[in-house]
Amino acid sequence: MFALVDCNAFYVSCERVFQPHLEGKPVIVLSSNDGCAISRSNEAKALGIKMGVPLFKIKDIVQKHKVHVFSSNFSLYGDMSSRVMATLKTMSSSLEIYSVDEAFLDLSLVPQHELFSQGCHIKTLVKQWTGIPVSVGIGPTKTLAKVANHMAKKNPSGCCVLADPQKIEEVLKTFPLQDIWGIGYQWSKKLSRFGMNTALDLVQAELGWIRKTFNIVLTRTALELKGTSCLSLEEVYPPKKAMVSSRSFGVPVSSFDVLREAVSFHACVFR
Ligand SMILES: [Mg+2]
Repeated sequence: MFALVDCNAFYVSCERVFQPHLEGKPVIVLSSNDGCAISRSNEAKALGIKMGVPLFKIKDIVQKHKVHVFSSNFSLYGDMSSRVMATLKTMSSSLEIYSVDEAFLDLSLVPQHELFSQGCHIKTLVKQWTGIPVSVGIGPTKTLAKVANHMAKKNPSGCCVLADPQKIEEVLKTFPLQDIWGIGYQWSKKLSRFGMNTALDLVQAELGWIRKTFNIVLTRTALELKGTSCLSLEEVYPPKKAMVSSRSFGVPVSSFDVLREAVSFHACVFR
C-alpha cells in the first residue's frame, strides 16, 4: 500500500503558520515578481480566484473581499517542506519526495484495517509538528493513492483509503480521466473520442488495445487503476530534466518602451 501525502494550499499554509490570524480568511501567494496567484486558500478559491490568474485581473475581488496577498518566499517554503518531509520520514521505512509539497510513503507493513487510522495519524502528526495541514490518500498503487488523495481533499477527515475493489470501482465510475495522474488534457481529449471519459472506462478497456492505440505509459496507468502496481517508490530523486526561470508583469503592459526596458533589464541581470 502507498500513501500520497499532499500539503493543502502549501505556500498559503506556510504563511499562515507564522500569521495564524489568517486562518479562515482569503489568502493568496503570488509568483516571482508578484505576477500571478500560485497558491490559494479555500476561501480565495471560493471567491473564484483561479490558479495562475494575474494579479491585475483580480484587483477588484482582492479589494472588495480584503484578500491577503503575499509575495512568494521560496526559502521559507523550502524550509517548511524539509520539516514536513522529516516528519513523514519518521512514519515509514521508505519515502519518495515527489515535489515540494507531496510525498509517497510505503505503508505495506500496516495491516489493512489500520490504514485509515494510520492516515489520520500522519495528518495529525504533520499538523502538530509543522503547522501544515495535509491530505492523505491511500491505495494499492501510486496512481490509486493519487485518486484517493483527490477524494481526501473533499472529505472532512482529510484522509481516504481505497483498498476495497468495490469501493475503488465506485469511485472510478465518476472520476474524470483528465484528473488521473499522468493523463493530460491531450490524452483525455483523444480518449473521449473513443467514448472514454471516466477512469472506469479506461479500466474496462482492453490492455492490448490501449497499448496499440496509445502506448506503454497509458497501459501502465490502466494497470495501476486496476490495482496492479507498476510504479515503485523512487527513493533516490532523479535529477531534474529541466529548469525554468520566469518573470511576469504585475500589470498589463501595452507600451513597447516599458516592455523593452523590462526585457533588457532582465536580460542584463540574468545573463
Ligand atoms: Mg498541494
